Amino acid sequence: MARERLYLFDTTLRDGAQTNGVDFTLGDKLTIAKMLDDLGIDYVEGGYPGANPTDTQLFAEDRKLATTFTAFGMTRRPGRSTSNDPGLAALLEAKADAICFVAKSWDYHVRVALETTPEENLASIRDSVGAAVAKGREVLLDCEHFFDGYKANPQFALACAKAAYDAGARWVVLCDTNGGALPHEVEAIVGEVVKVIPGAHVGIHAHNDTEQAVANSLAAVRAGARQIQGTLNGLGERCGNANLVSIIPTLKLKAEFADRFEIGVSDAQLKSLAHASHTLDEMLNRAPNRHAPYVGESAFATKAGIHASAIMKDPATYEHVSPDRVGNRRKLLVSDQAGRSNVLAELERIGLKIDKDDARISRLLDVVKEREAIGYAYEAADASFELLARRVLGKVPDYFDVEKFDVNIEQRDNAVGQRVTVSLAVVKVKVDGETLISAAEGIGPVNALDLALRKDLGKYQGYINGLELTDYRVRILNGGTEAVTRVLIESQDESGERWTTVGVSPNIIDASFQALMDSIVYKLVRSGAPA
Ligand SMILES: [Zn+2]
Repeated sequence: MARERLYLFDTTLRDGAQTNGVDFTLGDKLTIAKMLDDLGIDYVEGGYPGANPTDTQLFAEDRKLATTFTAFGMTRRPGRSTSNDPGLAALLEAKADAICFVAKSWDYHVRVALETTPEENLASIRDSVGAAVAKGREVLLDCEHFFDGYKANPQFALACAKAAYDAGARWVVLCDTNGGALPHEVEAIVGEVVKVIPGAHVGIHAHNDTEQAVANSLAAVRAGARQIQGTLNGLGERCGNANLVSIIPTLKLKAEFADRFEIGVSDAQLKSLAHASHTLDEMLNRAPNRHAPYVGESAFATKAGIHASAIMKDPATYEHVSPDRVGNRRKLLVSDQAGRSNVLAELERIGLKIDKDDARISRLLDVVKEREAIGYAYEAADASFELLARRVLGKVPDYFDVEKFDVNIEQRDNAVGQRVTVSLAVVKVKVDGETLISAAEGIGPVNALDLALRKDLGKYQGYINGLELTDYRVRILNGGTEAVTRVLIESQDESGERWTTVGVSPNIIDASFQALMDSIVYKLVRSGAPA
């Protein structure tokens, strides 16, 4: 049986840009649009031309993408003609392949927010859709608050949707604008809508206020809708929009959907999903959610020894899909509960060949247990584990020695009389018999120490130029009589590879120093730097 085509519509650049703290530049928008295009997304909504300078510029010229690049805006204002509405004019003039209008479909909103009549709302939809169709654009209409509107007045909500469809809209999109609908309601209401408008012209736009946005999108598809709108990583105001990063693999890998539907994302493109998700986080300067379904670092991580040994025999025993399908990887955590099989699997993953009966494996396991007992967390710090394993197996060169370091914090008045706190670090390292001294100022003591440490490593400098810290987390542990500090540092290099290192000490600077050192040494090992 031929599979039916299901379309994906991304609104990361429009609805996603409403997220608290998110502010895309024109360059960001172009990079994300290209990434979505490469992923095989059918529609990319860029923003509101005419509403702000960035979006106006974005729609000023063709972006040369295969995706249907879509402009968003309002239908004509009540009481105006389409030719006498500057907002609508800007939208019609935008260099876009498609136009997505938003219109009211809840009679209560028409009355209270728009202060107009139901008839005028319907006329505005008809006129605006008609004007865009006449301009040769593909047209979508977002029916705002459709599900609440339908519950209050089904005839009117349906009339709004039908007005757009009859005027030539390719898609009528049912929006759960406040995100309060539940999957069974969505399924029932979409089921009624597709009796009036063919499902091949119906889309779903779900918000995540009850954490059902993905479920609501799938429920709409089950009822007959054939376009899903969402964002990368579920970005969006309040609790976010439907997360395409969860929806895409579900459609591709779960038989209920994969057997019936085809989407624009190929198997090869699916493998780039984890990378796309992490790239967006990077642009937003956010640490990726390690528990994100499919793409999170922990999505295929297993801790207990008994599970790990079963996964080694056959991954299907504990995994719902294979991690490499979405560009993720299996991770067996090394922790104090872990058995030999975890350690062996980790050694295999990092490419350390060792006989499984080698006595050094028991020694490594003992060292891991001892160190975890005093606060180290190797399951969260894969790079520190790799270094520890390489050290126990005798394979880490002494690249350089830190002979001493000094961190100084000073609070004083600056030249204009403001109170400022300045941190200064001085580091003395010995590389190849040569002593190098570097100093750096930083935002805080750890930042200063990091900058000074990486400022001059002599012949190794070339290997660490692209190294940067992307996350720094501190936890105070109450083990035994004294509190100790655990620091986890996440680093990345020019290729986008990320790794995490750990340090533990009663002193936060010492703990940070250990984690920083591990990060640098790890990078040198991975780069194959000479001893
Ligand atoms: Zn929305």
